Amino acid sequence: MIAKVIVDIATSELDKIFDYKLGYSGATKGSRVIVPFGRFKTEGFVIDISDFSDYPEDKLKPIIRVVDDVPALTEDNLRLAEYIKNKYHSSMASVLRLFLPSEMRKGKVRSKTANYISLNAEIEVGEMLSSLKKGADKQRAVLEFLKGNGKTKQSELNEAFSPSAVTALKNKGYLIVSEEKILRTPYKNLSGGGQRVKLTSEQESAVNSVKNSDKPTLIKGVTGSGKTEVYLQLIESVIDSGKTAIMLVPEISLTPQTFSRLRSRFGDKCAILHSGLSAGEKFDEWWRLRSGEAVIAIGARSAIFAPLENLGIIIIDEEHDQSYESETSPRYVTEEIALERAKLSGAKLVLGSATPKVESYLKAVNGEYNLAEMKERVNGKPLPEIIIADMREEVKRGNISPFSVALKTELKNTLDSGNQAIIFLNRRGYSQKVICRECGYVAKCLSCDVALHYHKAEDVLKCHFCGSQYHMLTACPECGSVSINYSGTGTQKVVSELQALFPSAKILRMDNDTTQNKEGHFKILKEFSEKKADILVGTQMVAKGHDFPSVTLVGILDADMSLYFSDYRSGERTFQLVTQVAGRSGRAGDSGKVVLQTYSPKNPVLQSSVSYDYENFFKRECMVRKASYFPPFSHILRLMVESEEEDLAISTLKSAFERAREVYSEYQPSFIYFDKMKSPVKKIKNKYRFQILARIKDNYQEIENEFYKIANGLTSRKVLCYLEVNPSSTS
Ligand code: ADP
Ligand code: ZN
Ligand code: ZN
Repeated sequence: MIAKVIVDIATSELDKIFDYKLGYSGATKGSRVIVPFGRFKTEGFVIDISDFSDYPEDKLKPIIRVVDDVPALTEDNLRLAEYIKNKYHSSMASVLRLFLPSEMRKGKVRSKTANYISLNAEIEVGEMLSSLKKGADKQRAVLEFLKGNGKTKQSELNEAFSPSAVTALKNKGYLIVSEEKILRTPYKNLSGGGQRVKLTSEQESAVNSVKNSDKPTLIKGVTGSGKTEVYLQLIESVIDSGKTAIMLVPEISLTPQTFSRLRSRFGDKCAILHSGLSAGEKFDEWWRLRSGEAVIAIGARSAIFAPLENLGIIIIDEEHDQSYESETSPRYVTEEIALERAKLSGAKLVLGSATPKVESYLKAVNGEYNLAEMKERVNGKPLPEIIIADMREEVKRGNISPFSVALKTELKNTLDSGNQAIIFLNRRGYSQKVICRECGYVAKCLSCDVALHYHKAEDVLKCHFCGSQYHMLTACPECGSVSINYSGTGTQKVVSELQALFPSAKILRMDNDTTQNKEGHFKILKEFSEKKADILVGTQMVAKGHDFPSVTLVGILDADMSLYFSDYRSGERTFQLVTQVAGRSGRAGDSGKVVLQTYSPKNPVLQSSVSYDYENFFKRECMVRKASYFPPFSHILRLMVESEEEDLAISTLKSAFERAREVYSEYQPSFIYFDKMKSPVKKIKNKYRFQILARIKDNYQEIENEFYKIANGLTSRKVLCYLEVNPSSTS
């Protein structure tokens, strides 16, 4: 028999199947194996077993050995891998890597074992005790201990008594040593918040709607409507019927909180998969899933590859979150993979959000997805009132602090009543956008209607979409003011100004600086939820689905900072952010408030978000995108060229552009836009970056195919060429 093997070397030349003799290796489809490769040995995966080879059998080398007791990949995994390979035109080796924790490859982690000691049952304890010499108190104590406590880890015995006492007893044949596997369990003490509750009628109908539909379901539920409870209920009935479940959550910061709810409901049946775990924890959690010991996988996007069989449901919480798009090769979109995986294994797919992606809601409107809506908060309270603070007025009145009068007043009220507040800084937009502090004018590109970015080094304004350049402004073209702002306030500054205003308040800060270490997010969130602080100041991280019952005020410092971000989705992002951040307020007892500070209070996106009017936002957004041919009414392709050698990058870009131009001439009427340029961020990690941008309204599949071929054809050891489809970030 012949084993068809993919060797774990992800270069394009090797993207093919190698034949090995199966022999008596015991390998089956999905097994990880060690095979001879050239003059070396390498790891690989058996993707098929066959009777045939194009090579004579005596020319084939045999498999050296099988790595795991159970094949690491399931049949479903292999079929899904095939789909991903074809869809994203990647090599099979790089696709298969998605399915295992990276530390598992090349034997970097193994299961952990420890020696355990128990009494030799064939000898009576009394006999052992009486045989001991008079002074052997420690040996006596060890025997007494084992008699009372049973099997014990050897290291614990050594420490509690003495290694020599243990050894002496072993030598007498009184003790039995056994080597046992020990599990490394992440977040061991995490549990709580998963008490079963009686579902509200809206929750009940959402659950039934999912159960009764053959299509993927989009659950559109306002913040605090109890979506998580719906997921738990769905998972419960799936595992009751003997199947398994995957639940994806957007960000590391959120995982412990959701995990805690799952663990307290389902105990050891759930396993957590995410990048913040130690290698050993990942390995053990992964094997618990593969062996069927755990039947619920929870984690960030990569948990979509969890090694579960007999899958009953996939849930994608906060489906609008950007973290569901992979930024490294293969550049997959989690939802696309989830759709295929659900199809392959006959599982349900549930997408949940208070602010679904425009694409997803359009699918629901068109009937491609089943729609379940939840419009009420579980606590019966209205969504928090959003007060707009017009920052242009504040500046006119001479208030140049980051806080409006309204926010200061509300902060004082909140602290006086013993409640908590969250202050949100839209840091992402803070870097280079140019805004007039008098009238709110924002410098925009003439042909793209997106905000320009200030490039300090060259002192120019640039459009990150089309590459146009403009002079830096010296005065506002609308009102003539010279009060032009292009740098923002950081979280640190906000904290110190807040502290000056409220000297006795305890303030926590959560941003990239304060969450560097493994459980940084978790620690800050825990402190805040235990009310050890009054105010939490943070960036995007505080916007995600946290549930803090005592938070009754949310301040959004610069709501419009992401509004003009150079991306067709900036309106959508802003709407999502405002709704999500606002949703942290008033979730339990007292009703909540939100102060939204902005320089453009009339902006239609902000207007819809203030009244929580998703429908209105959606209609307008669709109209605009349809008229200007932006996704979902077109596709954006970005072909990236990256190399440490600038000349090589440029010459590769030229070749790519020549080939792309052939595609362009063939399909010209399908193109809305087509050009080559430097990437907005010209150099990352010493690599020069160039790009070809195209926007395509029809014949998309054919064009995409050609672009993938161009990218793959030009990639070599020194230059990386890859394709992004509707990229979230165009940096
Ligand atoms: P969402 O995910 O929609 O923002 P959650 O599922 O976090 O909402 O629910 C908000 C809060 O309401 C949580 O504290 C949750 O425990 C509680 N909750 C959810 N459903 C119910 C219910 N049926 N009865 C009582 N409390 C509930
Ligand atoms: Zn102005
Ligand atoms: Zn432009």
